[in-house]
Amino acid sequence: MLGTLMMFIVSQKKEEEAKPISCMNKRNTLKEENGRLKIGNYYASDIAKKFGTPLYVLDVEHMENMINAYSHTMKTCYGEGEILYASKALSSKAVYEIVKNQNIGIDVVSGGELFTAKSVDFPMDKVYFHGNNKLIEELEMAVQNNVKMIVCDSFAEMEKIDYIAKKNGIVQKIELRVNPGVEAHTHEHIQTARTDSKFGFGISSGKAMEAVKESLKFENLHLSGIHCHIGSQIFEFESFIITVGKMTDFMKKVKDELDYDFDELNLGGGIGIYYTDEDAKFTLSHYENFLMAVLSEVAKAIEEKGLKKPFVTIEPGRSVVGEAGVTLYTAGNIKDIEGVRKYVAVDGGMFDNPRFALYEAKYEVVNCDKMAETKTEVVTIAGKCCESGDIIAKDVKIPMCQSGDILAVLSTGAYNYSMASNYNRNKIPAMVAVKNDNVGYIVSPQSYEDIARNDKVPDFLKGE
Ligand code: PLP
Repeated sequence: MLGTLMMFIVSQKKEEEAKPISCMNKRNTLKEENGRLKIGNYYASDIAKKFGTPLYVLDVEHMENMINAYSHTMKTCYGEGEILYASKALSSKAVYEIVKNQNIGIDVVSGGELFTAKSVDFPMDKVYFHGNNKLIEELEMAVQNNVKMIVCDSFAEMEKIDYIAKKNGIVQKIELRVNPGVEAHTHEHIQTARTDSKFGFGISSGKAMEAVKESLKFENLHLSGIHCHIGSQIFEFESFIITVGKMTDFMKKVKDELDYDFDELNLGGGIGIYYTDEDAKFTLSHYENFLMAVLSEVAKAIEEKGLKKPFVTIEPGRSVVGEAGVTLYTAGNIKDIEGVRKYVAVDGGMFDNPRFALYEAKYEVVNCDKMAETKTEVVTIAGKCCESGDIIAKDVKIPMCQSGDILAVLSTGAYNYSMASNYNRNKIPAMVAVKNDNVGYIVSPQSYEDIARNDKVPDFLKGE
């Protein structure tokens, strides 16, 4: 184990040291060619010309490679386990189809995600259902569709699941979401396992043990395991190692006090990715090494603590689709406030990417057909919404930008489309998938009719 851990740290250091000053975490399917940005076998500006902007582009090959890196490591280094793609990061029929074809599972957090997965016949015995306040209708949907697991987040929910399972004549497998109280160093809005969190039963407060005892009383619940998720965009490996220690300590406590063995241990997601040159540029092997080290730690802990070997699941979302996504915009009006800031407004904004507005997320921006030119100016990429905080990327260095240039914002695959809205009644951009020589819509362009479809004007509001 120590060897694996050392290997991981050394490889992480090397990648960090080797970090070039120039931008982009390049790979075969995302690179510069002839001074132009290329995604798969297509120049990005050609994709923009064909499909229009703003546009989300998904590099399918990279997504598949990420899934493969995780699932191969799970199979070869541990055996009994499953990768669950956290589909909150990016959910659509095509995305579930890609995941289904890679033969891994998913985690869903709403009736909408479950419905979408079901509509492409995603195998329900590979679906885990999460959420801190699942609606009755969502729990019914989950039970009636025979999802493999419901991850239970409160005492009240236990009663609801048991009631619904009884009504449907089944025993529902559950995991308890516990809070190990690990502080990972990420933005506070994407940290979930601090003591002050809306998620999970606290281990240190004794609530987790109480939840185990309580859940064992219900006839129509089968307590399969425990789950935790310590946050997102985490780079510190130590946070995950501490988490494994705390989770297996808790498993041992349950074994000692109640003589109960958990079948499953679910360690959530949260693995960080490259957004800007402040982040390390990871390759697939980094993610393999990361998982290998976590799994070795699990194996070591269960042996030392005399526990039954659990089926292990992890739930990566951002790292599966984040870097696979690119958003293309057309530069519009340019406003140079001398000595203050230069704004380049684009045809998208916080309605397709609210992450700067939410937590000042940083992005790298490239000028698609000026990749070989020197980055001579620092600009702020602003959206078109009526909101001063509608910024996509602040103070980014790019070559001289003119109105009409196609700009690409990188690493937008996760929590962009899934967080998009029709704010200001803007159309949510379409999404295309690229794989080798293939490119096509996986989300169609919205129309203004689509936006107004559910609007009603009842008679009592109509004028004479
Ligand atoms: N699992 C759970 C329960 C989560 O809440 C999240 C994200 O919020 C994830 C997995 C995915 O995390 P990430 O996208 O950082 O890998």
